[in-house]
Amino acid sequence: MAWGWKLAGAVVGGLLGGPVGVGIGMAVGHGLDNIDNQPTGQNREDDAEGLLQAVLVPLLSIAKADGEITPRENRLIKELLSTINQSFDEELSEYELDVLIEKTANDDLAIRTVLEVVVEVTKSNHDLAQSLLKACWRVGAADLDINAAELNWLMGFSEAIGLSEDDFMIYALIYYRPANDATSHEQALSMLGLPNDAGLEQIKTAYRKLSQKYHPDKHSHLAPEIKELAAHKFSEITEAYKLLTTPTPWYGKLASSYTVEQVSEYEIVSCLICEQKNRLPSSEHYHAVRCGKCQALLLHNKEVAEMLSAD
Ligand SMILES: [Zn+2]
Repeated sequence: MAWGWKLAGAVVGGLLGGPVGVGIGMAVGHGLDNIDNQPTGQNREDDAEGLLQAVLVPLLSIAKADGEITPRENRLIKELLSTINQSFDEELSEYELDVLIEKTANDDLAIRTVLEVVVEVTKSNHDLAQSLLKACWRVGAADLDINAAELNWLMGFSEAIGLSEDDFMIYALIYYRPANDATSHEQALSMLGLPNDAGLEQIKTAYRKLSQKYHPDKHSHLAPEIKELAAHKFSEITEAYKLLTTPTPWYGKLASSYTVEQVSEYEIVSCLICEQKNRLPSSEHYHAVRCGKCQALLLHNKEVAEMLSAD
């Protein structure tokens, strides 16, 4: 395998997204050259293939962390690779790119070997490390959910490529939301006998019916055990209703003013990471809203939103 490290360094920079310039890319190329013992640059197609594989391997690793590579993950990986590929003078054809991805994806030994080299090289370049970690988070979030296996992989990779806990936390805030944010919401809905996508009107109607049914006044004439059960059920329903109707306020960067504001339904919000404009769905699903382009979470609590949009 011919690693076209100089060429690699020149293009790695801006292509994974993030503020990594060609200058830094060249430095990376230099670092990669020092690691490579093989003569470089026999021909440009090898160069392209070597670089593409170096970027491909971490992306495939995160995609495989929870078992199978899903179609969404696969599509995003191909999209990221295509962007890099297009910057070569002699780019790979679409067919060659597909073959490279499939061949590498099915070769776990190659993935392990190349990943070790990528980790070694990336360790000494903070900006490249951040870009790579960000690209990996994007792939991990491509399924709109990051599970424990993926989170573990990302933490391990982040540490291996020399990033600090603070570096890791920034991307965790951008891409990861703990499941309990969503499950408490869903539990409250199921308490009211409603599906996960129920809207505010359904919530009000269900609460009205159930609170009448279990209201303590209705059971004052019954046996104490029954009264107790009804009272318990009544307080559970009331708590669920409160949670669903007084949600924590969410903040995002409004596309109209480019300032971080509390958002409301169907507003257009600009992604804090890639600036893509996204129209919000109804407010019941705010905890799960992601940027359509880079999969970053669009809405956060006030402190986090302000911190993430600071630069
Ligand atoms: Zn985005």
